[in-house]
Amino acid sequence: AAVIVAIDGPSGTGKSSTSKAVAARLGLRYLDTGAQYRAMTWWMLNNGIDVSDPSEIAAAADKPAIVSGTDPQAPGISADGADASVPIRSQEVTAAVSAVSAVPEVRTRITDLQRTIAAGTQEPGDAGTGIVVEGRDIGTTVLPDADLKVFLTASPEARAARRSGELKSADGKAHADLAATQQALAARDKADSSRKTSPLKKAGDAVEVDTTELTLEQVIECVVTLVEK
Ligand code: C5P
Repeated sequence: AAVIVAIDGPSGTGKSSTSKAVAARLGLRYLDTGAQYRAMTWWMLNNGIDVSDPSEIAAAADKPAIVSGTDPQAPGISADGADASVPIRSQEVTAAVSAVSAVPEVRTRITDLQRTIAAGTQEPGDAGTGIVVEGRDIGTTVLPDADLKVFLTASPEARAARRSGELKSADGKAHADLAATQQALAARDKADSSRKTSPLKKAGDAVEVDTTELTLEQVIECVVTLVEK
């Protein structure tokens, strides 16, 4: 059967870079589940949903069509046909996404999409191709039968440093303030870990990899080796 790899962990641990590179190297598809929650959040912010009101979020959760590409070189994502790839990385979306993703109706909707994509039944020709799925609850809830589960961690300092480096490369401006980045990351991880429905959590059978002292290349090697075992 097609191999399914689940890669979970908090932000700034190198999940996306690792997952894309592992998928590309092994000829697998790739799914960024954070991007799906971000696309849902972006659509809600653009459509007058009050994201401080969980009942408004719940009522809108079925509305937008969220379509994710699975090419690790150029995944892409859209909401109701509008390209969401760039705007889902905005500060506004990042600040609101934990509240939106904590709403059970949103999680049910997006979890269904994730399982359909992982099974490969969405696009002709996908079924035989395995996938690397990255997120927060893939090993625990979305794909509990994954062939390999990896849980990436890193020190808060390392995570904030990586994330502020990414912010710089995204907009070409100076490094975002490190302390502020660290604080925002900590707040998002706390919200993601403490929500009632499917919190950020290491699955019992996941392999934990602490990336603090590792280069990206070393983390990729490590995961590729685990898949090939
Ligand atoms: O990975 P990324 O930082 O893009 O994820 C954005 C947010 O989406 C997370 O902070 C979390 O609130 C939500 N998320 C989630 N479950 C996942 C993936 C992401 O709740 N599987």
